[in-house]
Amino acid sequence: MNSSSTAKTILFWISIVFLGVMLWKLVSANGRSAQGDEPSYSEFMSRVDDIKEVTLYLSPNSYELTGEYIQPANRRFHLTVPKEVVPDLLSQLRERGVLVRVKEVRSGDWVLILLNAAPLILLVGFCLFLMRQTQGKWRRTGVAILGSPRTGIGYDLHRLEQGRPLIVGGIELPFDKGPVGHSDGDVLAHALCDALLGAAGLGDIGTHFPDTDPKWKGVNSMLFLEHAKKLLDEKRFTIEHVDAVVITEKPKLGPHFPKMREALAKALGVGTEKIHLKAKTNEGVDAIGRGEAIAAHVVATLTSR
Ligand code: MG
Repeated sequence: MNSSSTAKTILFWISIVFLGVMLWKLVSANGRSAQGDEPSYSEFMSRVDDIKEVTLYLSPNSYELTGEYIQPANRRFHLTVPKEVVPDLLSQLRERGVLVRVKEVRSGDWVLILLNAAPLILLVGFCLFLMRQTQGKWRRTGVAILGSPRTGIGYDLHRLEQGRPLIVGGIELPFDKGPVGHSDGDVLAHALCDALLGAAGLGDIGTHFPDTDPKWKGVNSMLFLEHAKKLLDEKRFTIEHVDAVVITEKPKLGPHFPKMREALAKALGVGTEKIHLKAKTNEGVDAIGRGEAIAAHVVATLTSR
């Protein structure tokens, strides 16, 4: 546990104790007033010789008197007294040896305001504290935090061989070469899958669909994307944007982008506006430039919900 967590824990328990004390004071105050007598002023004066002690609260709007009888022992009382009788009342009580306390209660007293508002302030603070603690727990367990964006990057390359179907972005393109791969060799779908899984912290495509498993041989790569989307939903992630570049010398990909975007968007359950595709050649350089391979780079952005 770091120093920040320790401070939060200490603050939490101080808040709990303070809240408990405040509630106890409120309950006990209510309890006392509920159990005590509420005599009229004349009844009170008729028993003035039985009074043990009084406390007079002077507020702008009323003068409240509370106290305790000698008999019956520990019996308390509470009443409101007219302002004009207070000086005479206090001297009578003091002459009879009654312990008299006088307290001024000002409506603008910040201590009073603070004490009255303390339970509410503590409750709000406690809720905020619990929220922060819960968010921290989610972060540690990999659950998404509301609104926090996450980015993932994906890359894939496949060799091209004569006579194989060329599938990019879920669309088969007319071409005399196609990728060599365990599945359909769709570099765009594979890189996209890696970008999504990476952004969500869920490993990579090989983790979920190992190329040693015959189950995935020749499979349509849209299945990988659909599975990735399911995993994202379980972790409450939303796909905000996908930006991809496919690198191949031939054929030209641009004319096929609308269909690719539709296929990818359908597999991911998002609108096509969230899928952005670009095409590049490798200027005749290296394996891609010689038409021996095709590659794709993808960046995906997620948010939580
Ligand atoms: Mg691949």
